[in-house]
Amino acid sequence: MKENKKILTTAFGIPVGDDQNSLTAGESGPILAQDAHLLEKLAHFDRERIPERVVHAKGAGAYGYFEVTADVTRYTKAKFLSEVGKKTEVFARFSTVGGEKGSPDAARDPRGFAVKFYTEEGNYDFVGNNTPVFFIRDPLKFPDFIHTQKRNPATNLPDPDMFWDFLSLTPESIHQVTILFSDRGTPATYRNMNGYSSHTFKWYNDKGEYFWVQYHFKTDQGIKNLTREEAARLSGEDPDHATRDLSASIENGDYPSWTLEMQILTPEQAKDFQWDIFDITKVWPHREVPPITVGKLVLNRNPSNYFAEVEQAAFCPGNVVPGIAISPDKMLQARVFSYHDTHIHRLGPNYHLIPVNAPKGAPEKSYQRDGFMRVDENGAGGPNYWPNSFGGPAPDPGAEEPPFELSGQAGRFPFTHPNDDFVQPGNLYRNVMDAAARERLVGNIIAHLGGAQKRIQMRQTALFYKADQDYGKGVAQGLGLEMKEIERLAEMSQEERIEATKEGTS
Ligand code: NDP
Repeated sequence: MKENKKILTTAFGIPVGDDQNSLTAGESGPILAQDAHLLEKLAHFDRERIPERVVHAKGAGAYGYFEVTADVTRYTKAKFLSEVGKKTEVFARFSTVGGEKGSPDAARDPRGFAVKFYTEEGNYDFVGNNTPVFFIRDPLKFPDFIHTQKRNPATNLPDPDMFWDFLSLTPESIHQVTILFSDRGTPATYRNMNGYSSHTFKWYNDKGEYFWVQYHFKTDQGIKNLTREEAARLSGEDPDHATRDLSASIENGDYPSWTLEMQILTPEQAKDFQWDIFDITKVWPHREVPPITVGKLVLNRNPSNYFAEVEQAAFCPGNVVPGIAISPDKMLQARVFSYHDTHIHRLGPNYHLIPVNAPKGAPEKSYQRDGFMRVDENGAGGPNYWPNSFGGPAPDPGAEEPPFELSGQAGRFPFTHPNDDFVQPGNLYRNVMDAAARERLVGNIIAHLGGAQKRIQMRQTALFYKADQDYGKGVAQGLGLEMKEIERLAEMSQEERIEATKEGTS
């Protein structure tokens, strides 16, 4: 199109004659209500912002592909995983969790790691984090937990009392807290971190045999982290540093990649497994379940419009293709509801029509109709009900997950597996971190926990002590807490500890 043909129009394509001077009665106004162009422009501007995500609001994304590098057909019949060398287009989004849309990329926070695979059997959404575990394992606790990570309702400030009060009253969080305050709590960039499913998923093959699996996307750029001081500096000097790094590296042809490794357990192995495989606060030790390499994720194309492609990107862990299924992990079960629900709130019931979310490899053929922003042909003249005898799309029984056993009484049950919430964080502290990493961990905790009330500091430090005595001593020393008191609290049951540290105790 020639330059002189680029005439400015209204949203409805009507040429605009003047975009600098409103229509007024006389030279100095007032403005006339018949200036439809002005009214349309202002009304649209007033509605530019959509609700920001209640979690994972700040993020960056890119397109690329996933390539299969090993034969996994004995574990899953998912077509996009059916052949070595097979490539599937993807869109990935990385994010922080607690901060608002303008918050710094360098915040100490888990990072979201979401990948949408545009497969020939519809979109498969992997919606993970850069940590292999999570703070809580029952979704009833999730809204409360997130409130404590956000701002105090009275002051609108982040509040160390809220943050540590909740965590110290929720001992299952100790593993994730230890990872969060370790070096990995502040990844250097989105390219320098791993992505984990954290949850257990089910894979099943074309014979109907199933396996329990966990995903590990391992960064090919190597793990790199920021120190507390570097993160604080970057938060001020370049709050968007990770967003900038991702797009700059792709722009420069330095395409980030991750190797997908899977941990896979047969149902028989799972029965006698040392850990509850549906408890998201636990990992599967590598020695017991060695990961196998399955594929490669490469990001090689930047979005051309942030709002259209990144802000409106919507992932849901319930979007699984045949060959992949949901496990009984309670957190995962709730996420299947919550992600879809929040996108309907944010983007409307037809968010699947937004190009970044639309299934590119397998267009929608359903009987869902109408609703706000139904912008495709809306099923045109085809039938809008099933069953019908007019040749409408029919279900394919082969796409169903094979039936599986469920038994037991309905009730509200806590996790009762005879495993201990303190063993794995203790192992991480003792066996994985070196002395310098342990020192940084303790330093990071002291800098944050030091802002909470003393009784909360003591309750939380007793949990560190239960994970590892040296760990607890380091924190207690840094905070100037009486070691005898911490030892006494660590020996108590959680109920006694809560009683001993209730409001007014110190
Ligand atoms: P391994 O020695 O085989 O694994 C230790 C793993 O710890 C490493 O492979 C690395 O994971 C990860 N790691 C290193 N530094 C940190 C850190 N600062 N924060 C979090 N993770 C880190 O032992 P185990 O498999 O027996 O696990 C020991 C502990 O390691 C676990 O209790 C858990 O805390 C942690 N861990 C275990 C993972 C697993 O899937 N088994 C995954 C991640 C952490 P990676 O190879 O994924 O980079």
